[in-house]
Amino acid sequence: MPRIKGSHNAILTGMMGAEAAFEAIRDGRSGDTLEGYEEAYAGSSVYKELKTVRNVKPLWSKLGTALGIPMGGLDMWVNSLFGFSFFGTLSHGKTDAASLKPARNFKPIDYPKPDGVLSFDKLTNVSFTNTYHEEDQPVHLKVKDLALQKSSEYDVYAGPSARYCPAGVYEWVKDDGGAMRFQINSQNCIHCKTCDIKDPNLNINWTVPEGGGGPAYSNT
Ligand code: SF4
Repeated sequence: MPRIKGSHNAILTGMMGAEAAFEAIRDGRSGDTLEGYEEAYAGSSVYKELKTVRNVKPLWSKLGTALGIPMGGLDMWVNSLFGFSFFGTLSHGKTDAASLKPARNFKPIDYPKPDGVLSFDKLTNVSFTNTYHEEDQPVHLKVKDLALQKSSEYDVYAGPSARYCPAGVYEWVKDDGGAMRFQINSQNCIHCKTCDIKDPNLNINWTVPEGGGGPAYSNT
């Protein structure tokens, strides 16, 4: 949490993976494990940077803001100065999927509408990613059990996929007979993989799309 630097860490770890794959191809290997990637990661600046802050979010989640944040700061300080933590390595306690609670326990939040100046609707934001997938390619987001998606994700949790997905891929729409249908607009997917870990039943599996489709950030 104190080191939100996803892009540069993604680039660095991607380079490590590519180098490990290159070495394997150069040595004529195939179908084995790229152990060189794990070793490169363990000795990298990314690992060092993230190891120092590993307990901050678990401490915050377990102890709350007033106590958890100062304890997290203290833990980072001890880690940076002495290279160890009094807590060892704390876990988060539960997965992202398991942290969802039934919708009946909550009141819906009435968010203000995007003003088109400082805030924009989802599909406008998706357009900035230049996401492209072949129209007729197989859906790369696989729902293992559609009946479970309706009986649990929709009926119990009020369809959180329509809100946590940043690209508006998932929608619950009423069909002509009035029944709710899970619609997947997979061509909008920006490959964040949230659905793969956040669905309450781990019922959605993100797979690699055909033909290298996906976001193409132009930085303009
Ligand atoms: S990977 Fe991300 S963008 Fe794609 S469908 Fe899942 S949540 Fe939406």
